[in-house]
Amino acid sequence: MLSARKWLLSIASAALLVSATPAVDDRRSSAAAACARVGTKQELSPAFAGSVQYEHDISHWSNASSLPSLCSVQPDSPQEIQQLFSIIKATRTPWAVKGLGHCNNNNMSSTYGLQIDMSQFSQIALSEDKKSLKVGTGLNWGQVYGYLAPHGLIVVGGRSPTVGAAGLLLSSGYAWLTNEYGFAIDNTLSADIVLPNGTFTTVSENHGADIFRALQGGLNNFGIVTSLTLKTFPIGQVWGGSLQVTGDLTAMIDATVEYSAKPSVPQATLAVEFLAVNGTATGLIIMFYDGPTPPPGLFDAFVNLPNATGSVKTQSFIDFVQAGEVAAAPNNRATWYSAPILNWTREIIEYIGEQAVETSIKVAQQSKSGTLVSGNIEPFGTQAYSFSRGSAWPHDTAHPYNTFNGLVMWTDPQDDKILFDLTIEYHTKIWQKAIELGISRPKGEVFFPPNYSQGITPVEQIYGPNLGWLRTLKKKIDPWNLISLTGGFKI
Ligand SMILES: Cc1cc2nc3c(=O)[nH]c(=O)nc-3n(C[C@H](O)[C@H](O)[C@H](O)COP(=O)(O)OP(=O)(O)OC[C@H]3O[C@@H](n4cnc5c(N)ncnc54)[C@H](O)[C@@H]3O)c2cc1C
Repeated sequence: MLSARKWLLSIASAALLVSATPAVDDRRSSAAAACARVGTKQELSPAFAGSVQYEHDISHWSNASSLPSLCSVQPDSPQEIQQLFSIIKATRTPWAVKGLGHCNNNNMSSTYGLQIDMSQFSQIALSEDKKSLKVGTGLNWGQVYGYLAPHGLIVVGGRSPTVGAAGLLLSSGYAWLTNEYGFAIDNTLSADIVLPNGTFTTVSENHGADIFRALQGGLNNFGIVTSLTLKTFPIGQVWGGSLQVTGDLTAMIDATVEYSAKPSVPQATLAVEFLAVNGTATGLIIMFYDGPTPPPGLFDAFVNLPNATGSVKTQSFIDFVQAGEVAAAPNNRATWYSAPILNWTREIIEYIGEQAVETSIKVAQQSKSGTLVSGNIEPFGTQAYSFSRGSAWPHDTAHPYNTFNGLVMWTDPQDDKILFDLTIEYHTKIWQKAIELGISRPKGEVFFPPNYSQGITPVEQIYGPNLGWLRTLKKKIDPWNLISLTGGFKI
């Protein structure tokens, strides 16, 4: 908390900054007005550059996703969010809401204006009958799974413990349990949300069903979500772990082709990655089975790879997830892009490996600080798409497209442009190749998951046929168009 004198000084320095940078005058002056107004509310206290809270509030897993907001704030009740919307309405400041900051696009959970950080929304509660769990949008998946572990229960959520519940539950939610129960967005029961018109409401299939479905992929397009209630499922010991493969990757590719050609086992999930640095690729295989032992033969070709090291064992779900944390250096910068793939054939898997290597050579030649290019293969079965309930992000059994995800990492901000461009080139080549091979479709026929897409992705490519009803709904609940003042895939 800043003292009244300190925040007045901060506003004064913000005002100086405004007059010093005419190009961003409008945005900055509306933000300065908003930060000043936030400071007049007793319960809300703005944080400014240089304070620990501000640095926390604007931080992201990838530093390339952060922007220097004029001030930040941590509301801790729906009423405070209502106040923030009325300040945004009065000042028309740019704003952003952040969960755990794992979005790999800037200006989506970051802004030059008013940064809203949701970390105070850390409540978590299991229902009396233990069939549902209410999670605050300031929690990460490690916290959620840790809370549920003593109850022998699980929810469909993130594969990495530090990812935010918020962004994943409002986008798609590829989970270790997706083959068994669907995407995370298919397993929400209700959401508490402050709409841009200031209404605080709980939406579900029975009340505000249009908003409830719009949130299943709609990210920040419909307001600020304070908590979500999720279906719980029983879980016992699981089997899984990761293997690193060095040298010749042919046997890893053979095993992936063989696994992908077999009928999918609902309890089993596989992720295979090419990790390329300056022209050399290694492999990473992550295997998961919801049960103490997988059926004989299912993962044997991976486990028996002669050039693999690592550990695969029976363990608790939380131990399995914690071991898979995707650590990032403090100066990490990253971006990614996905491509829809229907079948993981040998041709496309080999092509992804080749392109990861080729891109890593370009990264080494054209950037100062590029560190890694990864190419992710995630074979989900058609049944994973059978749980969809008409969500904003179209996914169904008629379009059971898996996601190739290509990630590039670096450290120097001067490399941002070139590495964003190379990531787009990498993705485009893989998508084109998949279309040529008959295992993907062109624009207009496939829809990209909002959480793995580049900021430049046209909104039609994400929401497709749903854009009409989403736009009508948005107009109804956002009469002052406050959502246009935050970034993202704006409908
Ligand atoms: C290391 C890593 C691992 C990942 N693993 C997976 C995975 O296994 N499966 C998967 O599907 N995805 C995964 N992702 C992608 C991830 O789901 C998305 O990046 C997700 O948006 C992150 O959520 P967040 O709350 O951390 O992000 P943030 O950057 O905080 O937010 C992302 C988006 O959600 C909006 N938002 C956040 N909070 C709210 C709120 N309360 N109300 C309204 N809008 C809000 C933001 O404005 C922004 O548009 C991973 C990402 C990383 C970096």
